[in-house]
Order: sequence, then C-alpha cells, then structure tokens
Amino acid sequence: MSEVREWSREDAATLLRVPGPADDKYSRGVVGLRTGSSAYPGAAVLGVEAAWRAGAGFVRYIGEGRAADAVIARRPETVVSPHAAGARVGAWVIGSGTEAGKRTADEERELRGILDGAVPVVVDAGALDLARGSRAPLLLTPHGREFARLQTQIGSAPGDDRARAAAEAAARLSAVVLLKGAQTLIAHPDGSVIRVDAGTGWLATAGTGDVLGGVLGTLLAANPDASIAEVAATGAWLHGHAGRIAAGIGADGGTHGYPIVALDVAQALPRA
Ligand code: AMP
Ligand code: MG
Repeated sequence: MSEVREWSREDAATLLRVPGPADDKYSRGVVGLRTGSSAYPGAAVLGVEAAWRAGAGFVRYIGEGRAADAVIARRPETVVSPHAAGARVGAWVIGSGTEAGKRTADEERELRGILDGAVPVVVDAGALDLARGSRAPLLLTPHGREFARLQTQIGSAPGDDRARAAAEAAARLSAVVLLKGAQTLIAHPDGSVIRVDAGTGWLATAGTGDVLGGVLGTLLAANPDASIAEVAATGAWLHGHAGRIAAGIGADGGTHGYPIVALDVAQALPRA
C-alpha cells in the first residue's frame, strides 16, 4: 500500500470555491438528500442544514412524512418532493438516519435507482449494505461499527491497521471509503489513503455524521471534475474545523473547547 497522505488546510482551500459573476444557483452545485426517516427525522434536518451551510446553490430533499415536514419547517429554501425520479442533481446523499432492515420495497427501489445513476452518491448508515455492485461513483461514509459490518459483508478480516483495512474495502467495493473516527481516513480503490486530522473529541456526539453527509454532498456537487477522494478529504477537513470553531477551540474555549451539538457544527461551517 502506498503512503498515507495528510490533508492540510491549504489542500482543502484548493477545493473551496468562491462564487463568481458567471455563477448561478445551479452552477454552484445542486445536492439531493434522501436521508432520515420517521424514526430519525433529525438526521434529514441536519444533513440539509449542513448542505446549505457548506455552500450549496440548491438543495433538494426527497422524502415524506415527519422528516420532510421537519426539513421544510427548518429550511424553507429546500425543495422537497416525495420521489427522486426526474430530480436533476449533481450529487446525492443517502442512508443517514435510516436503518437497513426497515426499508419498504419502494424505498429500496428508489435507493437502487440513485445508486445506479451517473452522479456521485454519498452512502451512509442504513444504505451502506446496498452499495455493493452499484454503477454510480460512490463515497461510503461508515463509522467504526458500520465499517466492521461492511468488512463482514465483503469477507474482509478485521485488523488494527485502519488505513490498510479501508484501502482493502475500497478496492473490493470499487468505491471511495471515508472511515470516520478521531482521525478520518479516505481510501481510494487504487490503494492510496488520505488522513484528515482536523477535528476534536467534542465531535463524538449524535448527529455529527449526518452533518458530514450534507457537507460531502455539497462539495461533490460543486466540484464535478475533482477527485472524489480529494473532495471527501476537503469535506472531512471542513467538518472537523467547523467542530473546533463550534467548540470554541483557540477562542473562548481555550485549548480544550466545550460541548457542542451537531447543529452547532453545521452552523459553524460558513466560518470554517
Ligand atoms: P457518526 O458516528 O456517523 O455520527 O459520525 C461521527 C462524526 O464525528 C464523524 O465525522 C467522526 O469522524 C467524528 N468523530 C467521532 N468521534 C470523534 C473523536 N473522538 N474525535 C474527533 N472526531 C470524532
Ligand atoms: Mg452516522
């Protein structure tokens, strides 16, 4: 395996674009989220808020019921519709706030449609089990336990070397794998790995992964020609840095910081 590359603030800056006079809301990136569920409507809200705050020009939310109602109440800018068919988006986010075993046949068909489309898909949480064999360019975003389940699914042995394990999973799944944790690793199917060490332990709180999903969707939609792994690293850097800002690290929180909730991270994204 090749060396692990560290992703710096300067690296991240190359993929964070400032809109120019030629831009409109579509050229800045249209992101679509099919996330959340009646059991976890908050995941939809957090992802949508993060997508907007990361700089999306246009955010579509696909869903019904409690999650869709919560999204529109919180972010009226969002275009909400029950089905993905016909929605023209530059990148999708699916799975956050859903459980693999609790999908209806309709939901599964719709997710498969997204996974077999042409644009990149951020695949999180309850949708991870569907990723294998999909045609769309994929960015899988498991946390440690979700990654262990993926490893079982692909017949990969657990081990202590996270970089090696992530690279193996990326190769077997033909997808970029972003393995979450105190340090985030982004593995490309070619074996290369990027490490992002920008966050804070205060990010270990419910919902921050849903925020990351929205960030990644927006950056992928805004950078259609860039490497998915480098865009993913930039998203992880931005999310980690937003966590530090939200926790007051280097400011009124001193060196240790203070507790935050996931929505604080989304709201700190513009400053990050
Ligand atoms: P999730 O488990 O899906 O909610 O995602 C949690 C998010 O918080 C990911 O972006 C992790 O990288 C981040 N995170 C979790 N624990 C830590 C930690 N101890 N230090 C820094 N970041 C963390
Ligand atoms: Mg999660």
